[in-house]
Amino acid sequence: MKLPSPQTLPEFQSVFPNEEACLLYLFDLRWPGGFVCRKCTGRKHYSYPLRRTVVCKTCRTHVRLTAGTIMERSKQPLLTWFYGAFLTTTLTPGISAVQFQRQLGIGRYETAFQLLHKIRAAMVAPERELLHGCVEIDETLIGGVHKGGERGRSTQKKTLVIGAVEVRQGRKRSVVAGRVRLRAIPDAACSAVVGFVQENVVPGTTVLTDGHNGYNALQRLGYQHRSEVAAALPLAHREFANLKTWLRGPHHDRVERKHLQAYLNEFAFRHNRRFWPFSAFQRVLQIAMKTAAPTYHELYQADEFGTDVHVR
Ligand SMILES: [Zn+2]
Repeated sequence: MKLPSPQTLPEFQSVFPNEEACLLYLFDLRWPGGFVCRKCTGRKHYSYPLRRTVVCKTCRTHVRLTAGTIMERSKQPLLTWFYGAFLTTTLTPGISAVQFQRQLGIGRYETAFQLLHKIRAAMVAPERELLHGCVEIDETLIGGVHKGGERGRSTQKKTLVIGAVEVRQGRKRSVVAGRVRLRAIPDAACSAVVGFVQENVVPGTTVLTDGHNGYNALQRLGYQHRSEVAAALPLAHREFANLKTWLRGPHHDRVERKHLQAYLNEFAFRHNRRFWPFSAFQRVLQIAMKTAAPTYHELYQADEFGTDVHVR
């Protein structure tokens, strides 16, 4: 079944005029071939949109459509979630919590903040494929990130970010960036950089790095490791420059170090789908249906690098 992918706000409003339309969309994402009861495999059901629930006609099993999703236990209308997914994926720089709160008339900033973070959790596909072919790896320092969110204080500790960029052939022997992965790491120790490569790149891949000897173990681990002079990593450098521009944008002036990883995930998701922003909307909701998002408590208790809540 082909689900609609609205491309403009008027289209969005006609596809999703109310809660029921959103619920039907979630229904189709969960059961693309029609309802099947997980207990008795019955196919007939009743729908209760107000309770976000479907009940099997045969055995009366209740299925809450938002259970086990990023929307679980949310009191916000589904329409607010759908607007969040639509605006995050289709607006070029994304949307800030402040803008989102204003545009949708959400009462508290924290509600908007939390909702967008949960959407970011649906920007990392659990079954995503590792990078392959030829991959540039490099690190950069992301500065101006407020430690612990104490705004205005000059404790702007820089955070080390490692990135992997697939090298693809462009036209006329040029190279273009394929998929990107990014991770905030505590330091450039061998264990951190090599661990990142192992989690994100298929063994056997040609891996280009700078001369940092932390990468030397890669050859032994089955990678074709080539260490280049720094100037020979053009794609990684360009992505880091794009990332910094994006993070400096007006929306992201409140990024705290412990949540930086969530923005790195969003940046990579946007980059990897930059030619298909409208299918990205559907993709986010698809992942959202299978993703338990960080709770309010987890978001605020995240460790220094947000590893426990933003790395999956
Ligand atoms: Zn049943």
